[in-house]
Amino acid sequence: VRARSGDGVGPYPGPEQLAERWRARVAELGGTEALVGQSRDGRPLWRFDLGCRDDGAAAVLLTALIHGNEAIGSLALLEVIARLAASGALRSETRRLVVMPIANPDGFAASMDRLHRGLPAWHRGNAAGVDLNRNFPPVLQPGERASRSPLAGSSWRLSPWFRGPGPLSEPESRAIAEVAGQVRPGLALGFHSFGQLLLHPWAYKRAAHPRAPAYRALGEAFLRARPDSEFQVRQAAAWYAIVGDLDDWLDATFGTLAFTVEVSRLDRRLLHPRAANPFWWANPIETTAAFDQVIPGVLGLLHAARGPIA
Ligand SMILES: [Zn+2]
Repeated sequence: VRARSGDGVGPYPGPEQLAERWRARVAELGGTEALVGQSRDGRPLWRFDLGCRDDGAAAVLLTALIHGNEAIGSLALLEVIARLAASGALRSETRRLVVMPIANPDGFAASMDRLHRGLPAWHRGNAAGVDLNRNFPPVLQPGERASRSPLAGSSWRLSPWFRGPGPLSEPESRAIAEVAGQVRPGLALGFHSFGQLLLHPWAYKRAAHPRAPAYRALGEAFLRARPDSEFQVRQAAAWYAIVGDLDDWLDATFGTLAFTVEVSRLDRRLLHPRAANPFWWANPIETTAAFDQVIPGVLGLLHAARGPIA
């Protein structure tokens, strides 16, 4: 029996199910929800606020599923919120958590739909095929040249790393940029998969970031929280260069300390028996072990970042 395309697969809920799960959890925790836009295909772009209700409180921006096939990132973030709530950290929080956990709902829906139809489920981009994490305004300094690596962002429309016709050309990246402009986050964590990496700017060049010590200190807090974790902390460009990514833009625009959390390692036990290439659906069937690798570190980092940070 073939599942309907709106259904989930394994531990991964369908697109509407995931949105409903988030809305129910936020309501249960006394948070607020707001629609901040619509995707290209008309799906809602949600913003959830948790913790302190003071508009002047320092904000932490938490995003997930900016890449449509990286479903485990949103589930890991949901689990982070659950643990923060269970520990009382949301009540005593002196700052706001601003959460956009399904940043690319069209890409997620397309990935799930393709998975159900036995097709390669690697749909990173939005409905126009734009890699939203290549669609933010580049932060190149005068005289600097963008990396020519195809992964850094491509002008080819069919590339999985298509940067789009221009910065913020897409409703999904614009929604994130507008929310960021409103809350000017001091800290941001973007949940992706995979690689068990905690990445920080710069993504667009290998030169050391002027605030590398602050990034390193938070990276150490992440690793200290679970010393036997498989995670590594790196400057993003040391993995591969990206031009127009969210973290570099947040950092350069608002002074945000902005991290990418690459949840899970590549799991070859694929969800879909017909998917031969693991890159098509890189989310592990068994999420608990992946969560155990990442969540203590995220909580440790959030805890360490409560104080003044350089
Ligand atoms: Zn990603």
